[in-house]
Amino acid sequence: MNANIKSYADDGSYPGSYYAASANLAPERPSLQGSIDTDVCIVGAGYSGLSTGLHLAEKGYRVAIVEGARVGWGASGRNGGQVVNGLNAGLQTIENRYGPEVGTFVGKILQEGGEIIRQRVERYNIDCDLKPGNIFAAFHARHMRELEAKQALWRKHGMDDHELLDKEGMRKHVGSDAYFGGMIDKTGGHMHPLNLCLGEAAAIEKNGGVIYEMSPVISIDDEAENPVVRTAEGEVRCKALVLCGNAYLGKVVRSLTSRVMPVSTQIIATEPLGEARAGELLPTDVCVEDIRYVLDYFRLSADNRLLFGGGTVYGGTDPSDIEKKLRPNMEKIFPQMKGVKVDHAWSGNFALSFSRVPQMGKLGPNTYFAHGYSGHGVTGSHLYGRILAEAVDGDTSRFDVFSKVRWFPFPGGRMFREQYCMIGSWWYGLRDAFGV
Ligand SMILES: Cc1cc2nc3c(=O)[nH]c(=O)nc-3n(C[C@H](O)[C@H](O)[C@H](O)COP(=O)(O)OP(=O)(O)OC[C@H]3O[C@@H](n4cnc5c(N)ncnc54)[C@H](O)[C@@H]3O)c2cc1C
Repeated sequence: MNANIKSYADDGSYPGSYYAASANLAPERPSLQGSIDTDVCIVGAGYSGLSTGLHLAEKGYRVAIVEGARVGWGASGRNGGQVVNGLNAGLQTIENRYGPEVGTFVGKILQEGGEIIRQRVERYNIDCDLKPGNIFAAFHARHMRELEAKQALWRKHGMDDHELLDKEGMRKHVGSDAYFGGMIDKTGGHMHPLNLCLGEAAAIEKNGGVIYEMSPVISIDDEAENPVVRTAEGEVRCKALVLCGNAYLGKVVRSLTSRVMPVSTQIIATEPLGEARAGELLPTDVCVEDIRYVLDYFRLSADNRLLFGGGTVYGGTDPSDIEKKLRPNMEKIFPQMKGVKVDHAWSGNFALSFSRVPQMGKLGPNTYFAHGYSGHGVTGSHLYGRILAEAVDGDTSRFDVFSKVRWFPFPGGRMFREQYCMIGSWWYGLRDAFGV
């Protein structure tokens, strides 16, 4: 099955995902026409933009979000739905690279993004099938040692929600013989990512915010005290501008392009399997990702499909046949899925930062940005959105820590960075395959 792939910002329709096919009813918002003034303008209606926007709208700011396609059209509306605590770069790496102070600071906030999601789902009654528990799966003894070290480190930082699982323990959660062991995080979870976006967008509007869809931003003036955002048919003048276009921002803001690289990853959704068959695959209905460099991630949908994701393409292009690419991986983990019908296959881009630490910062005097969650951004984007909102509101204490974290350009520059990363990923893939 070939995926129905749309490239940015085509006709704005959602990619042919299971999520688009099962999305809650939502209005189509108007595009931006003419000139408007507002307190805060946000570019991009993914989790980063929606999180920032909702925090600020709740505080009473006039918020306008300008989205090039539709709410949740980017990574936020098509991801694996895995609510995984933490940033992509491990806490130990962050400590080693940026020092113990930054390590302690980050250690205190690693679970905040997940909490924001749970609070919002409850407060605004968002119907997005939120369920608890995520598992990190280990293929061999080295992976297991990594998980043990992670548990110990997180405990040191006051988080004690991880439980290690041996092979038998894993079997209680995952109906597969593929794993050596694993670790469950009881405060992780999974949900329908597009419905979370749609619920957050509705909450922003409930708090007086405005969202424009089908309005690709073509230029910005970030130097001005009052930044300006321009689309083909309109402009927004604001007191603060927040750029949340992530991997899809492209070349609109040149100064951001070398900071991150778009990388695509793909997901397939099987036909509904029925309760009994689905229950054999994932008896406790948690979500799972393994801890290899190029990983598999999977979970059940509310209607008992297996959603199985994996693979990466540096540069963000889409493979021509997603099912062909992912089916062997799925059948390796679950041989009982041989021949199962795949109903949906889709691809999406996340923004990779070289350090794998997401970035936030400022361009002009009142222009902020956040991006680069490196494939693990469901919780990170919610956390970063809150921190951006604090900064816009005058409290820059947490923003300052992250904005000072050094970022590194990709080796090879814009021309050769994809090839460089491919070699890197091949090398790490080889290490994973041999368990070293
Ligand atoms: C297939 C896939 C699976 C993933 N699985 C997981 C997972 O299971 N768990 C996890 O933690 N993370 C996962 N991620 C990563 C996670 O989805 C992202 O880190 C997160 O959604 C980023 O949110 P964002 O708002 O920063 O970016 P996005 O959601 O990409 O939003 C950016 C928005 O900005 C808009 N935009 C861009 N440029 C412009 C412009 N010029 N004008 C107007 N609007 C513009 C886009 O249309 C888009 O809607 C996955 C990513 C992908 C692609």
